[in-house]
Amino acid sequence: MHDETLLLHTDVGEQPFRALTPAVHRASTIVFPTVEGFQSRHSQFYDGYSYGLYGHPASRNLAAHVAALESGARCLIVPSGMAAITVTNLALLHPGDHVLLPDAVYGPARAAAEGFLSAIGVTATFYDPRIGGGIAALLRPRTRLVWAESPASFTMEVQDLPAIAEAAHSGGAFVAVDGTWASPIGFKALRHGADIAVQALSKHIGGHSDLLLGSVTVASEDLFRRLKDVSRHLGLGASPDDCFLALRGLGTLAARLERQTASALKIAERLRGNPSVARVLYPLLSGDPGHDLWLRDFQGGSGVFSVALHPGHGRDLAAFLEQLRLFRIGASWGGLHSLVAPARLDGARTVTPWQELGPLVRFSIGLEHPDDLIEDVEEGLARYRRGREAAAE
Ligand SMILES: *Cc1c(COP(=O)(O)O)cnc(C)c1O
Repeated sequence: MHDETLLLHTDVGEQPFRALTPAVHRASTIVFPTVEGFQSRHSQFYDGYSYGLYGHPASRNLAAHVAALESGARCLIVPSGMAAITVTNLALLHPGDHVLLPDAVYGPARAAAEGFLSAIGVTATFYDPRIGGGIAALLRPRTRLVWAESPASFTMEVQDLPAIAEAAHSGGAFVAVDGTWASPIGFKALRHGADIAVQALSKHIGGHSDLLLGSVTVASEDLFRRLKDVSRHLGLGASPDDCFLALRGLGTLAARLERQTASALKIAERLRGNPSVARVLYPLLSGDPGHDLWLRDFQGGSGVFSVALHPGHGRDLAAFLEQLRLFRIGASWGGLHSLVAPARLDGARTVTPWQELGPLVRFSIGLEHPDDLIEDVEEGLARYRRGREAAAE
């Protein structure tokens, strides 16, 4: 054999190798030992392996873990949380259909509903996230899908999912829930009436701010096949390396969430008494408008909460956030590092205008010691207050 051929065809044999960690197979092509196997490869599409785009051992492994965690039967892994949302929309909505979304929904999901869905003839309307069973009055004959996101990304409203689901189902609509805040460790949407549970795995499950993935979990095989067909037509595959990292993240998910939630609660309680703070938005706090629903439906929390500040000048907000020593300014959440993100809500909501006059700031608490984080935030809020006081003089 020539060197060129040797380079490609030196067979090292299949050595048995057992590791604690899952294997990562990078593959576009999947090979078949027989002609018959190749010709019938499409029958492997939903469960087996037919082409790298449609699944590989790491994505199947991750899907099985997420399905079990969500109390679902089948899970589809896609390249981002946003892809999970769009695949769900495209699997269930057709021209002429109507979809309902909470007014506090994740911003890019709102933009997709107002732009992309409207361009393909789907009407989107928004509802008060606290509507509960009152959503019955908003259902139309062509309402095919009701979205919930609980708690909401920035404003932390907890939704009465069982009541929403009951009303939606009696109107013939599916219910999809974006449960990224608590992850399935804290909230199992399928047990509370949802048909579809969506996660941005990029957040808590990835857990290290270094990957993008999403999941869509369902109880029904029929729904799974509809979702999987859409992801095939869109050509959405999930990287084996990212799936491996998400699998690694799963191992520490419960421990990270427990620690981040405990730290967040300590920090949130402390900030409640801060003179720069008008309101702390965190369902774990007693007295929070979502606290009772959170206690009723959730098994855990999250290190993500928001704070509404008393009104101040933009430059005071910059002095607060830019000089923090431990918190970095950035989107996303659920990683090891604490993050802070200022939000602009004016004009972002259409049916429940945001009432707080001051800026809203979201914190994602990482694994640093909570006392160091408290010191950092308190110093920042003192800078904010000094600016406000100087302006008032
Ligand atoms: C981040 C996020 C998404 C989107 O996830 P990506 O993987 O970043 O696309 C969707 N929903 C919520 C609530 C999120 O926080």
